[in-house]
Amino acid sequence: MVDVIRYLVIKALANKFQQVVILKEYFVDGFSPSDLSARYCIRKDVIRGYITRIHEQIKNKLVIKPLLENVYPLLEKISPVIENVCRCKLCGEVMHCNVVEYHIRYHHRDVVDEYVDSIVEILKKRINEVKGVGGSQ
Ligand SMILES: [Zn+2]
Repeated sequence: MVDVIRYLVIKALANKFQQVVILKEYFVDGFSPSDLSARYCIRKDVIRGYITRIHEQIKNKLVIKPLLENVYPLLEKISPVIENVCRCKLCGEVMHCNVVEYHIRYHHRDVVDEYVDSIVEILKKRINEVKGVGGSQ
């Protein structure tokens, strides 16, 4: 689960939030890959690729929806560190746009960890609140 959060945090930092939106609209709002393909002018197989990446990391489909529901508003608050010309605001490096995620993952691991940790903390708190109030299990 942390792997998926990490994956999504990196997308947000890499200025690829549209992919996060697409995943949320697929898993949470129930749009089909064809709907999303038409809406964002992205090939259907590319959209299926985004979805597959999540399935590879979380086998249990039932977990993905509540996870994305909870994490999405937190991801929205992350400001990207990569600008549109693929220049990193953190270190000033200009790079090819296909390596920005690699760059963030390996050069700014501390920033990624910080976001991942804070999201995991918030989720843990929410789970504890639910347990405390519900108590049905
Ligand atoms: Zn950088």
